[in-house]
Amino acid sequence: MSQVSQQTAYDDNNIFAKMLNGDIPYHKVYEDDKTLAFMDIMPQAEGHVLVIPKQKAVDLADLEPEYAAAVLMTCKKIMQAQRQVFKREGIIQMQLNGSEAGQTVFHYHVHLIPSSIHELGKHAIKMANQDELAEQAQQLAAIINA
Ligand code: 5GP
Repeated sequence: MSQVSQQTAYDDNNIFAKMLNGDIPYHKVYEDDKTLAFMDIMPQAEGHVLVIPKQKAVDLADLEPEYAAAVLMTCKKIMQAQRQVFKREGIIQMQLNGSEAGQTVFHYHVHLIPSSIHELGKHAIKMANQDELAEQAQQLAAIINA
């Protein structure tokens, strides 16, 4: 039997909840009434973006259909912009459910990573340069908002 503990209750103090509340800074790429997209602070490849719903969902099991649809539509926007900015056709869409799967932030989120599964870097290990993240967020936002 697995010894990994599972988080089932939503924690209002998780890092993404704090971003949604405006309590901590982040490099915003896109926002609408149901979703927020921003640069991952420890990217697995250049241009790694996270998309979150504005709904208190721990993982996929909690996600309401209207937010699931909204997250996917935002992912499409981000992916199209990533292809242009980072000149990569390959964009990995990844989403981890539960600590056993490697989930570390317990607010549902989709990773969009310009990379190949064969060259993907380690998960949530190395801090990116903040100036580079700001520049990348700006480039992506410019395409999405054009
Ligand atoms: P998970 O492991 O839950 O699938 O992914 C969480 C992601 O959030 C990781 O890729 C990690 O780098 C990212 N992350 C953790 N803390 C922060 C933060 O404070 N700001 C940003 N922008 N990303 C974070």
